[in-house]
Amino acid sequence: MKIVKTIKEVREIVKLWKKENLSVGLVPTMGYLHEGHASLIDASVSGNDKTVVSIFVNPMQFGANEDLDSYPRDLNHDSKLCEEHHVDLIFNPEPSEMYGKDFYTYVNMNVLTEDLCGITRPIHFKGVCTVVAKLFNIVQPDNAYFGQKDAQQLAIIKQMVQDLNMPLEVHGCPIVREIDGLAKSSRNTYLSTEERQSALILSKAITLGQSLVENGERDCSKVLTSMIDLISSEPLAKIDYVKIVDLKTIQPVNTIEKPILCAMAVYIGKTRLIDNFIFEEV
Ligand code: AMP
Repeated sequence: MKIVKTIKEVREIVKLWKKENLSVGLVPTMGYLHEGHASLIDASVSGNDKTVVSIFVNPMQFGANEDLDSYPRDLNHDSKLCEEHHVDLIFNPEPSEMYGKDFYTYVNMNVLTEDLCGITRPIHFKGVCTVVAKLFNIVQPDNAYFGQKDAQQLAIIKQMVQDLNMPLEVHGCPIVREIDGLAKSSRNTYLSTEERQSALILSKAITLGQSLVENGERDCSKVLTSMIDLISSEPLAKIDYVKIVDLKTIQPVNTIEKPILCAMAVYIGKTRLIDNFIFEEV
């Protein structure tokens, strides 16, 4: 496994692979890797001849008051995990490598970016789309792997690839959870012991909402009220949003009659956590 920091090195390595007709999978990450990331890596390794993992804490997707500076980083740990999961190449650029001083082009999407996390994080998806488009251009993968943990992001990336005719396939992978249900996240490291316990309210509300929908409830307000009541019973939790939207367009729906995404963002103390479930068998 190689670790490179420049675009030039990635291009040279991928060019050699392409010459041999080898397929390439890409797993974009911000590092501090856990089993959620590892599941995407495993999907890429089993579906491609070569796997590239990018590790880049992308400044462009963080708002002014967000956690860019405190975001956890551990390249030693990450490279061990990648090695164990048979990654071929880690791309770990500095921000200056990705964004030279003359940088003027952005990928901006309407509609899908406007609700859910787009309300509290208005510049986030512009940063995500721009960096992912750049990574696709740099690595030129045949396949790219994203987690359903960030379901709005996954829908947005699929839409971007379709709209801009990017020649690759985007694969979504299921949410990996801790044994007690908490969705794995690099940001879980911010939680104190007490907060870690309180954070279980997210997955409990997801389980509740999912079981209501699976048992036939189609009225979104009923599902959401039950979920919100449960989350509100946890003193350390403060709801950012709990919503049900169309899975493809991320637009709000009142009744479940097409595939939906039920998504939430909840502050536990100062840490903002997200979780969701998808329901497709309508
Ligand atoms: P991040 O490093 O947080 O930007 O995440 C990189 C990729 O890993 C994204 O596609 C995430 O959706 C995915 N991911 C993060 N946590 C999980 C999880 N618990 N289960 C599955 N995928 C995840």
